[in-house]
Amino acid sequence: LKIAVPKEITHDENRVALVPRDAERLTRSGMEVFVESGAGLGADYTDGDYEKAGATVVPNASDLYGVADVILKVQKPTETEASGHESEMMRQGAVLIALLDPLRNPSLVSRLADCKLTSFSMDMVPRITRSQEMDALSSQSTVAGYKAVLMAANRLGRMMPMMVTAAGSIIPAKVLVLGAGVAGLQAIATARRLGAVVKGFDVRAAAKEQVESLGAEFIDEHLQEDAEAEGGYARELSGDQQERNRQVIHRHVQESDIVITTALIPGRPAPLLVTKEMVGDMKQGAVLVDLAAETGGNCELTEPGEIVQTDKGVSLIGLTNLPATVPVHASEMYSRNISKLLGLMVQDNQWSPDYEDEILDATCITREGEIVHSRIKEQFR
Ligand code: NAD
Repeated sequence: LKIAVPKEITHDENRVALVPRDAERLTRSGMEVFVESGAGLGADYTDGDYEKAGATVVPNASDLYGVADVILKVQKPTETEASGHESEMMRQGAVLIALLDPLRNPSLVSRLADCKLTSFSMDMVPRITRSQEMDALSSQSTVAGYKAVLMAANRLGRMMPMMVTAAGSIIPAKVLVLGAGVAGLQAIATARRLGAVVKGFDVRAAAKEQVESLGAEFIDEHLQEDAEAEGGYARELSGDQQERNRQVIHRHVQESDIVITTALIPGRPAPLLVTKEMVGDMKQGAVLVDLAAETGGNCELTEPGEIVQTDKGVSLIGLTNLPATVPVHASEMYSRNISKLLGLMVQDNQWSPDYEDEILDATCITREGEIVHSRIKEQFR
């Protein structure tokens, strides 16, 4: 089986889908691994590292796609001026595994079907115990939550920990994390490690214990009912409930030096947690990082991809794709996730997926040109 790892062409994407450590595992199990020259450089892996792992380095994408049975990517296929759309460079019948975000990209799904590709989306891995090692949303959210705090701390004109010095005592920074899922919990842990006083907020009651176990305070005055839905995700709240929650959050936002927002609802726009008025009430010099920027933002004033500063000197960071800014470990984790998913479909170096398997049923989007995912098929009806 020929496995191909292209160089990512999306702007500022420094991750690579397969790191040399996992390339070696695949070659040892009998697969042939082909890597486009320079594919790992953004994450500090040289062509030589891949060659040492038993992979073959090929000079360009068209040579790579020409031989590939299975393509491992981070980002969804995109267009280049020079060579057209990546999915059109892939051979008919080839298999593509990547973060396709298919619920928000129906035109890409149609294109994959038109190109007669079989595709699996890493962001559709179900949250069950058996698939934890394949869960790229979790691994990449861990990186994002960590980096969000570092970016905020870097921008803040204050230090994070308490200090008692001859030049006076420094009080610790106050950090508020809205949404205590994977990214939020990692943000809380990172802010705690830096010595901040941290509060967490979520609509799922189960988050309380997790937030408190990290040494943070859980805001629970709003929790009249638990908003946990299928798969441990949150359900969308009614307009009234959202308004009540915003009233609870408002006071805490006002007191904080750093606010990190991470709230998401699968397949829906991100809930609005911090209004324009609340930003107006934030402390001079405070920093808000909106990890939901790409799906509409949790803050009304977030501009995706931008850092905005208000008249009061409040910084609103809407930068997207934070995992790509920590490419070494983000790639290492993603590579482990993708090779575990691949492992489920290959036996004795033969492509032999069991499409009835719960994990494959949830992740397979197109199969030899047919759109097969039930939820995505519905969008085309
Ligand atoms: P997510 O990225 O979908 O959302 C982030 C957080 O935002 C969630 O905690 C959610 O409850 C919260 N949220 C949504 N709407 C909100 C609102 N209006 N106000 C405040 N918070 C809001 O979630 P996630 O990080 O992917 O994790 C969701 C759940 O799945 C967690 O319980 C997590 O522990 C669980 N999980 C389970 C597995 C597994 O069993 N294999 C793997 C990963 C995550």
